[in-house]
Amino acid sequence: MVDLFEQHESRKGSKRKAASLVQTQPHALSEALTTWYRRARRTLPWREDPTPYRVWVSEIMLQQTQVVTVIPYFERFMSALPNMEALACASEETVLTLWSGLGYYRRARLMHKAAKVIVDTHGGRIPDSVEALLGLPGIGRYTAGAIASIAYGVKAPLLDGNVARVLSRIFAIEDEVNAPAGEKRLWALAESLVPERDPSAHNQALMELGALVCSPRSPSCMTCPVSDQCEAFARDEVEHFPRKKTRAEPTRVSAVSALIFCPAREKILVARRPADTLLGGLWELPGGELEAPRAPRKRTLTALLKARLGLDIEAGDLIGEVLHQFTHRTLTLELFLAKTASETVVPLAFYDDARWVPLDRVASEVPVSTLTRKVLDLIDKTGVRP
Ligand code: SF4
Repeated sequence: MVDLFEQHESRKGSKRKAASLVQTQPHALSEALTTWYRRARRTLPWREDPTPYRVWVSEIMLQQTQVVTVIPYFERFMSALPNMEALACASEETVLTLWSGLGYYRRARLMHKAAKVIVDTHGGRIPDSVEALLGLPGIGRYTAGAIASIAYGVKAPLLDGNVARVLSRIFAIEDEVNAPAGEKRLWALAESLVPERDPSAHNQALMELGALVCSPRSPSCMTCPVSDQCEAFARDEVEHFPRKKTRAEPTRVSAVSALIFCPAREKILVARRPADTLLGGLWELPGGELEAPRAPRKRTLTALLKARLGLDIEAGDLIGEVLHQFTHRTLTLELFLAKTASETVVPLAFYDDARWVPLDRVASEVPVSTLTRKVLDLIDKTGVRP
C-alpha cells in the first residue's frame, strides 16, 4: 500500500509542472474535476431532480448558508410550494414563515417578487440566458450562472466563495479575492475554464471541491484530484491563498424589547417590522435599539412602546439578554417584562402591524427571525408567565 508520505513525495515530484500544465491544458483540469465529481459528489435533494425551479430555490437558500442547514428548509419549502405558480400565488407571510430561521430574509422577499415576474412575463418558465436571469429581482451574476449552467446546461461561469478559494489556489492568484480587481480576474478565469461539454458538472465540481476537499483551513491536498495541477500546492504555499482584504469589525448595538402579556388571555404581543428594514416583514416582541450604549434601558423601552404602538406601559423586571451576530453588527438585546390593561394596540410608527399570539405558537403562527427565536427560547428557559 502506498502510504501518505510516498504519495506526498510523488506529488511533490510533479509540482513544478503544475502551473504550466493547467495554463496549457485547461481541459485537463476540467476533466479531472468532473471525473472526481461524478464519483464523490454528495447526494443532495436539489441534485436529484434539478428542475430550474428547484435549482433556483436551492441556490438562493444556499447563499451565506451551509448545506446541512438548508436541506430541511428546502424540503419543507418544496412540499408547501412545489412550483413557480404556487410560489407566485403564496402570501409574503407564507413565504417568510417557510424561510423563518434561515436568515437573510431579503432573499426570500426578492425570490417571491421574482416568481411573480416570471409568471407574469415569462409564462412561468425561468429564463435560460444569463442576461434574462440578471433582469430578475434577487438574481445576481452567481445565481444566474448557476441556474443557466446547472438547470439548462448553458456554458456560463459561476463564482462563489468556494470557487474563488479553489481557483485562487490552483492559479496562485495574489489579488485579494474580495476586492474588485480580484473578483474581476477570478470571473474571467472561471469563464475561460467552463467547457462546452457538461458545464453543469464542471461548475458543481468546482463548488464541491471547495466544500469537501479544498476547505478554508487544512485543505486535503493529499487526496485532491487536481493537486498535480495546483500552483499553490506546487509552491508549498497553500496557506497563503486565498488572499483577502480584512473587513471592518462588526458594530456593537444594544436593543431592548418587551414581553407583553395580554390581560385577558395567555397571549403575547408581537409586531411586524416594515419591509424596508433589517429583518423586514418579520414579527418580533416590540422594542427597538438604544441610541447610545449607556441610554437608560427601561425608560427607552417605555418611550418606544408609547411612540411605536401607543401603549402606556412601564417596563418591569429584566428577564434576560440575548446576543445575536448579524453580518456587520453584534446585537445585545435585553428583554423586559411588561403588562398592559388594554388589548387594543394600534401601530403608530415603525411597526406596520401588531397582533396578540399564544406564547407557545408564535413561531408557527407568524414568520420570525433567528433573533426572535432566541428571545422565545429565553422566555421558555426562564419560565416567565403572566
Ligand atoms: Fe486545494 Fe490543495 Fe487541491 Fe490545491 S491541491 S486545489 S490547495 S486541495
